[in-house]
Amino acid sequence: MRILLANDDGYRAEGLRFLRESLEGVAPLTVVAPDRNFSGASHSLTLEVPLRVQRVDGTTWYVINGTPTDCVHLAITGLFDFEFDMVVSGVNDGANLGDDVLYSGTVAAAIEGRFLGLPTVAVSLVAQAGIGPHFATAARVARELVLRLLARPLHRSMILNVNVPDIPYDQLQGFEVTRLGHRHQAKPAVRGLDPRGREIYWVGAAGAGQDAGAGTDFHAVANGFVSVTPLQVDLTRHAALDSLREWLREPVA
Ligand code: MN
Repeated sequence: MRILLANDDGYRAEGLRFLRESLEGVAPLTVVAPDRNFSGASHSLTLEVPLRVQRVDGTTWYVINGTPTDCVHLAITGLFDFEFDMVVSGVNDGANLGDDVLYSGTVAAAIEGRFLGLPTVAVSLVAQAGIGPHFATAARVARELVLRLLARPLHRSMILNVNVPDIPYDQLQGFEVTRLGHRHQAKPAVRGLDPRGREIYWVGAAGAGQDAGAGTDFHAVANGFVSVTPLQVDLTRHAALDSLREWLREPVA
């Protein structure tokens, strides 16, 4: 039994340190993380430049000049002479609710471990300005979920997307199984000028929750619950298969 830890905020991130500490003693742990912040990297691989792996002296921390997916991919396809049973990714500094999942490197790292022996877990702290950050709360939640998975295994292809409110652990209202909600469209890109007068842009902030009612991840977290959303990788719109076949058969005048 071995657990691989990864993240998208980079190997120095506080959330990763808390995660590592809280899982200590559960199983042998190995950290493989990017050398910098790769938030928003989604499921990208680095294919045009070589990856270099640095081991932090005498530890089981490994740092790669690549994306979160690179880290997990390498870790389970040849970096080590042993195998992992499970990936835990996080604790991300920020929410991965609804549409965030499409952009998230944290969730991508978890998804990359989907063929291992046990379900994978992505843990994010829904950090709020002026509060916390309560990484300890999220790390403790991660430990509880991992222990539960070991005691009562779920299907090995299960991906759990976990979002934790930014509050002290004893203020949590409990766990809630949720579906992904949706956000409003993102805020407009922010335009500026660089020091040489050339135009630059920043990607705008994520939109607020739109489909965020009862049953969604947004709703659970807003009400103090840990949101646990089961994810699958199949993006096929199964319900549209037949109508799309018909659509293609129709002659176009
Ligand atoms: Mn991140």
